[in-house]
Amino acid sequence: MTKGSINVSVENIFPLIKKFLYSDHEIFLRELISNATDATLKLKHLTSIGEAKVEYGNPQIEVKIDKDEKKLHIIDQGLGMTADEVEKYINQVAFSGAEEFLDKYKDAEKDAGIIGHFGLGFYSAFMVADKVEIITKSFKDEPAAHWTCDGSPEFTLEEADKTDRGTEIILHIAEDSTEFLEEARIRELLMKYNKFMPIPIKFGTKEINDPDFTPKTTKGKDGKETTEPHKQITVDDIINNPNPAWTKQPADLKDEDYSKFYRELYPMQFEEPLFNIHLNVDYPFNLTGILYFPKMTNDLNIQKDKIQLYQNQVFVTDNVEGIVPEFLTMLRGVIDSPDIPLNVSRSYLQADGNVKKISSYITRKVADKLKSLFNNNREDFEKKWNDIKIVIEYGMLSEEKFFEKADAFALYPTVDGKFYTFEELTNAIKAKQTDKDDKMVILYASNTDEQHSYIQAAKDKGYEVLLLDSPIVSHLMQKLETSKEHISFARVDADHIDNLIKKDDTTISKLSDEEKTKLDELLKDVVPSEKFMVQLEAMDSNASPFMITQPEFMRRMKE
Ligand code: ADP
Ligand code: MG
Repeated sequence: MTKGSINVSVENIFPLIKKFLYSDHEIFLRELISNATDATLKLKHLTSIGEAKVEYGNPQIEVKIDKDEKKLHIIDQGLGMTADEVEKYINQVAFSGAEEFLDKYKDAEKDAGIIGHFGLGFYSAFMVADKVEIITKSFKDEPAAHWTCDGSPEFTLEEADKTDRGTEIILHIAEDSTEFLEEARIRELLMKYNKFMPIPIKFGTKEINDPDFTPKTTKGKDGKETTEPHKQITVDDIINNPNPAWTKQPADLKDEDYSKFYRELYPMQFEEPLFNIHLNVDYPFNLTGILYFPKMTNDLNIQKDKIQLYQNQVFVTDNVEGIVPEFLTMLRGVIDSPDIPLNVSRSYLQADGNVKKISSYITRKVADKLKSLFNNNREDFEKKWNDIKIVIEYGMLSEEKFFEKADAFALYPTVDGKFYTFEELTNAIKAKQTDKDDKMVILYASNTDEQHSYIQAAKDKGYEVLLLDSPIVSHLMQKLETSKEHISFARVDADHIDNLIKKDDTTISKLSDEEKTKLDELLKDVVPSEKFMVQLEAMDSNASPFMITQPEFMRRMKE
């Protein structure tokens, strides 16, 4: 047996590690399973190039709780380590990794950024264990090794009698971390971080109906049929799907596959998404993923089911702020990229060149998808408009590139249920709705019931009235007014629309001068003139003898 001391500048690094990631102790499991996965994939590679002359087989990773002994085991069938390799990779590589990590980030404790999601590797085991053992057998023809360390820089390394290839990590769970001996807690972590990892992960067993067994039905003497119970068999409980949809080629996936994957991601989400966008790029950065447009009707769900960020199929976070443009954080789905630096704070992340490129790539893909949906099936796109307009309008306001692209598919619905693109709209109204300054006046209503009589009056003049009722539409109108030439928006009951109407000279007052004076007197007392305008001859299409309007500028001030 070898006894040794890990070469370390800090007397005892482990309490520091523990303290540092105090709120993220749970990531130890993700780190250890990632290592087990790496070890398995490395073996796969070595066998495929003929460097490891062993059978790769169907390796899996097993997580096992031994509650009585207060131990947690993580067992893989990967390439394993020789004693020399343990010395090198665990005592030196892993340790220097941990040390470097602490060095860099021990002052960043208060940065609520993304660094908490960054793993510090093997040594994160000491956040929850007061003693860690490694029993490992390399694929090479060398004896197995047994490494033990109790959290001080001292370790022991001796030969072991393990004969099957791979590595077993045994955590002696510390008194303050016994939650990690609970089945439910471990299952929760596996489902959170490992649901889509590429190697099957076994956690216990489960009973299922034997697929090879068909229950017999027999008829009793009384003529009643009875069916014997289904035979149950015990199988490994594999908690993950090693081949999630986003890792496949779009051409190999059908609509059902995307729906099925949506359900896998959000098991509690019963509404179908409206459509999806498959992301797949490998230059100049690597990114895969699937984004879904949900129906934007139920605000509460938007908060809960968020886009999840993965790195090589390992869950990192569902806070993608700074990575995905803000207007797209309302979408759902997965993005997976090894090129997003996680060991940095969020402000640094936002300044990172790759992250910026990723963000604009995603914006472009979303715009392209919307455009092709619009071009391929406009009718369907119009049907979905109400459910997606918030995202699109928000995107038009916040991302200039998206604003430009959206010209091709952003829709402007009329009160009659027609949908115009901006270009179609201006073509339709050019002739009739141009004011004396040669500006096209786009009329809109925000509430068809309340503004009914104004809408009717405008329609009688042959004007188009849009129905714009989303919460950010006033900002969008301002944006359009400043970006497009010769247009302005006016609410259908706004004061100056009357000028347009008057220009046509078709408004006929139904009131005599005497009546007008009388009404004027009456209304003065009830309608505050600093807030509203009273017009006594605006209407010709219904029985209303007058209109009370709020000037456009006052209304906008309120919004
Ligand atoms: P990283 O995974 O980033 O290299 P870690 O601290 O997680 O850093 O692990 C350090 C090294 O220990 C790994 O690079 C690997 O060589 C070795 N190692 C850790 N776990 C295993 C394992 N289950 N099987 C084989 N080697 C392992
Ligand atoms: Mg690791």
